[in-house]
Amino acid sequence: MTAFGIDLGTTNSCIAYVDDAGRPVIVRNAIAENLTPSVVYFERRDSIVVGSAAKNAALLAPDLAVQLVKRQMGKKGVEYTFHGTRYTPETISALILKELAAAAHRQLGRPVRDVVITVPAYFGVAEREATRQAGQIADLNVLDVLAEPVAAALSHQERHPAKRVRHLLVYDLGGGTFDTTVIRVDGDEVNVICTGGDKELGGADWDARVRDYLSNAFTERHPRLDPSADETFMQDLWIKAEQLKQELSSAMTRRRTLRFGGAAVQVEISRQRFQELTADLLDRTLKITEETIHKAARKGVSQFDEVILVGGMTRMPAVAARLEELLDAGGWRPAEGPGLWRHEPDLAVARGAALFALVKQIQQDGSPEQDGPHQQAEQIADRLGISAAQAEAMRARRVTTVVPRGLGMRVIDHGDPLATTDPSRARTMIIHLLPADTPLPADSGSVLFHTALDNQPIIEIEVWEQTEQGSSEELADNTKIGRGRLRGLPPKLPKGTSIQVTFSMNETGLLTVYAVEPGSGREVRFDLQIGGMDRAAIEKAKTAVARHDISS
Ligand code: AMP
Repeated sequence: MTAFGIDLGTTNSCIAYVDDAGRPVIVRNAIAENLTPSVVYFERRDSIVVGSAAKNAALLAPDLAVQLVKRQMGKKGVEYTFHGTRYTPETISALILKELAAAAHRQLGRPVRDVVITVPAYFGVAEREATRQAGQIADLNVLDVLAEPVAAALSHQERHPAKRVRHLLVYDLGGGTFDTTVIRVDGDEVNVICTGGDKELGGADWDARVRDYLSNAFTERHPRLDPSADETFMQDLWIKAEQLKQELSSAMTRRRTLRFGGAAVQVEISRQRFQELTADLLDRTLKITEETIHKAARKGVSQFDEVILVGGMTRMPAVAARLEELLDAGGWRPAEGPGLWRHEPDLAVARGAALFALVKQIQQDGSPEQDGPHQQAEQIADRLGISAAQAEAMRARRVTTVVPRGLGMRVIDHGDPLATTDPSRARTMIIHLLPADTPLPADSGSVLFHTALDNQPIIEIEVWEQTEQGSSEELADNTKIGRGRLRGLPPKLPKGTSIQVTFSMNETGLLTVYAVEPGSGREVRFDLQIGGMDRAAIEKAKTAVARHDISS
């Protein structure tokens, strides 16, 4: 069965598979586009539209559409209601996934079941879990979730194979998010060194600047007319702004006519003016890139062999120009200079995900033990329709990622005098057991904590994740992502009893927490409920989604 890679993007999504010749291929959607806008439009109770048609329909009825749902993934309590039905961000994402899968099924005549879905490198545990759940709701078998820059690196490695060790700097500026990641590629091994980003910075912010420029130009000429309350005019302005931005990547100047209230104004914008209007946005991405480079330097990486540009926004010429300046100024380019690679930057992630999906499938596809590795590779190759040499090469691939954000638990601050007199009112803080950027699989080893009260029958362990870069013990800088209870403790435990807690995270980012009370020797591993949906809720959503008639 063919495995697929899905780039479930903030603004656009894309699906790919690996063909018989071992090359990743993008599957076009029903209207022959490579990219399907990640927009869902709730036309009627049981009729849902996904993609370009939804994006267009959203112009006229924005209240019936959901855009940028990726920004809500993993957030608790976010819900949308359309025609009396409630939807979580996971369910909305599942509708997009279902549409991509259906399009691939129609195009290729093969059902889509096994998939790898990509996520931004900075996505934490809850967002990754929400993405997995979206896949399950869409009735897909999620082989893994993969960091987008790693997917881009795999796609790059496939196009430009090299045997020596290379350090890559991935700069990914998409429609809604920005991230930058340092990756080490050594033969078959791909390791993430560190990552940084801003999930509220992307193409839409550039569009907003152009939109404001256009609307100001209109009102300057017609001060008495106020089109800002006219929804259709404003939506049209968004479209024009995005088009202008894209056209200015190749043209030096562009014009548009704006019409409202019987007036028509022709507005011209040059690339120079556009770059001035948005300079601070680009500066923000460069500042984050520089910080990430410094973080990499502290981990022993001081030069980059290649810079990979990912995301539609990197088609803007200013991106490559400014990045080159930055790398030159810092001396981060080797003498022969790295290539700045930009090969169909909006498709690289899906391509890499497809390659990884095949790797996963090969690695999971166990053959009888008595067979040697070569026979196994041949059998697998046969089943998957690729050459044995390819299957062998794929099986050797190793991808190592890192803990995306620091993970810890909430404890009482023993520095607070109330900790001894009235622990229930004492300050609490977060102690991180797994710091950000620890290579996966990661294990904290057992860390000792102490109970705060006498005769505690239950000990509650709250798991928290840091929200931004940089570790902070303040609750406000962390989010609670789960909790578990250590029960069955011996009676009459005095306060100050030690509890050993271990956090471990596997290669795919799944977190396990367990605690031991060494006095009784009892080890209690609790199921960490991450994300907003339990198994029953997922099953319910799956049935509801299966009932819907989705079209593109
Ligand atoms: P992605 O999330 O990678 O699909 O990137 C989508 C973003 O890239 C959107 O904001 C698009 O407007 C933007 N984009 C696509 N093509 C271009 C282009 N030629 N020049 C500038 N921005 C572009």
